[in-house]
This record gives sequence, structure tokens and C-alpha cells, in this order.
Amino acid sequence: MKIALIAHDRKKELMVKLTLAYLPVLEELELFATGTTGLKITEATGLAVHRFKSGPLGGDQQIGAMISEDQLDMVIFLRDPLASQPHEPDVNALIRLSDVYEIPLATNIGTAEVLLRGLQAGFVDFREVVHEMDNRVI
Ligand code: PGA
Repeated sequence: MKIALIAHDRKKELMVKLTLAYLPVLEELELFATGTTGLKITEATGLAVHRFKSGPLGGDQQIGAMISEDQLDMVIFLRDPLASQPHEPDVNALIRLSDVYEIPLATNIGTAEVLLRGLQAGFVDFREVVHEMDNRVI
């Protein structure tokens, strides 16, 4: 499974704590991140992370491109709802693409934990569940 991790500046410490707390799950996944978030995660955990450009320099869009190519299975995007971002359109585009492609997306720590616990519990591919629901005749 491929999972993207992004955190706005005031959420980066929280992201590091999250990755430390769920290290055994994350070690089993292929990790992608925007530049600074990825660096902080690697420094704190030793996890191997494919790092894209920093978010404001196009990193969010690079992750969005992965989604549109069906190359991502989950996004954890710890947004800062109390600060305006110079790249707000990119943030919104990434969230929109996650919905277009039915990619599980967490935008806060609460949802992120639910998703990671889902992975821990063996819900390997959330999208499979969505597709099964799509195929069900109602
Ligand atoms: P960063 O980007 O990890 O490079 O800080 C995150 C963002 O602001 O989208």
C-alpha cells in the first residue's frame, strides 16, 4: 500500500508523533510525503519516505498527480485550519482529487488514527470496500 503524509507547519510535530505511535504499521507501507514533512518524519523515525517538493512549491500537486494515476491508496493530510496557506488552491485540489478517486483521506489526527487502526486491523484496501459497495445492487 502507498500512503501520502502531509502536514502544515503547525501540525508537523503532531505528524511526527503520529508516525512514531504507528511505526509498526507504517513500516509495512510505501510512504510518500511533501518535502519538509518527509524530512521531519525520516529524521524522527528512520522511516524511508519518498519525498516530493515542499507543499507550497508543488508537492501537493505532485501527490495529486499520483492519485490521478491511481498510484496512492491513502492520504493523511494534517491541515492547519487556523492559518491561511499561500497554496490553498493546491490543498483544495488534493482534497478534491481524493474524493474523485475515492481515496481515504484524513485531514485531522482523529481521522488519521481511525484509518491507521483500520490498517492495523487488516482492512488492507479501503477502496476495495468502496468498489464492492458500488457493485452491490440496491
Ligand atoms: P511541506 O509541505 O511538508 O514541504 O512543509 C506541506 C504543505 O504545506 O503542503
